[in-house]
Amino acid sequence: MTVWDDVVGQEAAIVTLKHAVSAAAQMVEAGPRSAAVAGMTHAWLLTGPPGSGRSTAARAFAAALQCVEGGCGHCKPCLTALAGTHADVSLIATEHVQLRVDDVRPLITTAQRSPSAGRWRVIVIEDADRLNDSSGNVLLKAIEEPPPRTVWLLCAPSADDVLVTIRSRCRRIGLRIPPVDAVAALLVRRDGADPAVAAFAARAAQSHIGLARRLALDEGARIRRREVLKLPGKLRSVGAAVLAAGQLVEVAADESKAATTERDAVERAALLHSLGAEGLSTLPPAVRSQVRQLEENQKRRATRAQRDVLDRSLVDLLSLYRDVLVLQFGCVDANGSVDGVELVNAELADLLWSEAQASTPTATLRRMEAIGQARERIEANVSPLLAVEALMVQLRPVA
Ligand SMILES: [Zn+2]
Repeated sequence: MTVWDDVVGQEAAIVTLKHAVSAAAQMVEAGPRSAAVAGMTHAWLLTGPPGSGRSTAARAFAAALQCVEGGCGHCKPCLTALAGTHADVSLIATEHVQLRVDDVRPLITTAQRSPSAGRWRVIVIEDADRLNDSSGNVLLKAIEEPPPRTVWLLCAPSADDVLVTIRSRCRRIGLRIPPVDAVAALLVRRDGADPAVAAFAARAAQSHIGLARRLALDEGARIRRREVLKLPGKLRSVGAAVLAAGQLVEVAADESKAATTERDAVERAALLHSLGAEGLSTLPPAVRSQVRQLEENQKRRATRAQRDVLDRSLVDLLSLYRDVLVLQFGCVDANGSVDGVELVNAELADLLWSEAQASTPTATLRRMEAIGQARERIEANVSPLLAVEALMVQLRPVA
């Protein structure tokens, strides 16, 4: 076992990162004032589509830098770095829409300090695409003149999502979408998922590792996904379409609420505790304003979570029509795959066949385009219900 085991389907990236780890080890051995060794650099940008394992790759790299053996996977530095508890590895993720100056400033201070026990001080920013102009500028200064033993690891969906001033200072590593069977194998090995369920989950999630994991381990998620995929069959009238839209938005709200409510309460209790205001029936004005600030942040986070869940449902719907199109083009026939193309939703074959026969490729493409439009509108802050209602009306079968 090594730290790279969970970085699935990324052989090319791992070769580059391993090369950097050995260059880094030479620098450590040469002493604190050593010159840079080719292959290692102070700022990295890991890019890859959502679910490709950016943060897993960043943690593995951080662990390998701390490990005397370059990432053995079982020593204390490896295990603590992977778990996110290594004293010299800071992991920053945000659920805010943006990373603000206040979020970034503490990192700059941390980055100036030499590593306490480890070989490198590593700072991982999981959402570098959420830096805004001011926080990006603050960060830029730190990245331009790093202390000799500090490494920045920035993660983002693509280089285009990161401020150009920042990305031009970083060495880029691109991750690809991992193969379905590699994701399934990871779910079995790492999460103890049943092999058949893991294979289904990896395929249904189209190799998005986080979604696949949730589908493999959470039966509720599997049921919700199935319900979403059955929605198009229920769109007989405009009234039914509006009803279906309401259902879809409500399911997204429930699911994101389940995920955030508990954490909101914990955060509130922790804030009151730190302000010495636990158990007070009336909060003093200074405390009240801080609580209000927290509540506003939580509300923003809830909105974002709801939109993310809704977007996942729309991606599921997109996979349904993608399958319908595959059938209409004859890439898969009654005997199975014709040219190596597989159905994402093979378990819904009956539904897919009847959709395929009831419509035409042109109609299917138009529906896929409508889903894409709805996703864009929601991303652009259109009311989710309005956007989904308009979509459902467009998905109705043509009479
Ligand atoms: Zn190790």
